[in-house]
Amino acid sequence: MNDRGDLQILHIKGHVLAGPEDIRDELWVVDGRITYERPTGTSSRAARDIVTARGWVLPGMVDAHCHIGLDQQGPVDESTSEKQALTEREAGALLLRDAGSPSDTRWIDDREDLPRIIRAGRHIARTKRYIRNYAHEIEPGDLAAYVRREARRGDGWVKLVGDWIDRGEGDLASCWPRWALDEAIAAAHEEGARVTAHCFAEDSLRDLVEAGIDCIEHATGLTEETVPLFAERGVAIVPTLVNTATFPQLAEGGAKYPRWSEHMLRLHERRYETVRAAYDAGIPVYTGTDAGGSLAHGLVAAEVAELVTAGIPAAEAVSAATWGARRWLGRPGLEEGAPADLLVFDADPRGDVRVLGDPRHVVLRGRAVR
Ligand SMILES: [Zn+2]
Repeated sequence: MNDRGDLQILHIKGHVLAGPEDIRDELWVVDGRITYERPTGTSSRAARDIVTARGWVLPGMVDAHCHIGLDQQGPVDESTSEKQALTEREAGALLLRDAGSPSDTRWIDDREDLPRIIRAGRHIARTKRYIRNYAHEIEPGDLAAYVRREARRGDGWVKLVGDWIDRGEGDLASCWPRWALDEAIAAAHEEGARVTAHCFAEDSLRDLVEAGIDCIEHATGLTEETVPLFAERGVAIVPTLVNTATFPQLAEGGAKYPRWSEHMLRLHERRYETVRAAYDAGIPVYTGTDAGGSLAHGLVAAEVAELVTAGIPAAEAVSAATWGARRWLGRPGLEEGAPADLLVFDADPRGDVRVLGDPRHVVLRGRAVR
């Protein structure tokens, strides 16, 4: 590939992992799209350079829980947002599900060089029950109206904060009564949006699932009781293990709330077991890093490795970041005619997922950006 990355026709030979069971020998990228048919003809196209690369090809990875336009303090400026998006791109994350941002990042959609974003609008939290400067902080009577509004602002998702520390109780506690969730999730579905919620603890999960939620973020509070419920309803989880790894540090800073600290430590201690139990029960699991709050961007490969540590087979963990996540989000992978958002690796990532951490080439909208 040349330095400018402005190839007209790219030919990749080797092992094209078009799907978990669909491995092909080669693909072409013509005018930014994937084709499995060798380009022919006498048009000007035939006169263009064909550049050949070799390796293992996967669809661009998905960071299904990150935040663009957000850092520890709240909204950030456009140049910081741009850096966040570029860091994801460099790591091979070409499709981001933004799990809540107070910034308007619509301008990114006009940038051919930046990853695609599926937004969940701005977080919706209970008053004084979330990180400052992040969320709309409201009371239950307003939840459905806010959900409707964020559904219209977003790209098919809405993000709730399902539980957070209740300082009165000194522990994690559910943020919303069941009736408010019923109304709000029905409103989102009416607007054609899916709903997800931040949940660390156990006690909000049943209400959220019974109210019809589509996904839970972190989901460290899954238990023997709620795992079957999620499985039965097909509610997905995005465990963000690279983030939940930091629970002990959070707990350390919570001396004023010993019950909360102990709870966080318990959730942390069983985090791998929890993810493994969810996977074994058939709950869809996808990769997300939670970058943009306190974590840096670009950790999607590290999250895949964490899923493997939790006991998910490597090929399934790869799927959680590629084919599976793309299907779940309604975006194509390496199908004929799909936009060429793909990665080329030196070895088979299903053999060793650490390979994902170092793509040889990153191709976004048909252009080699790395
Ligand atoms: Zn988050």
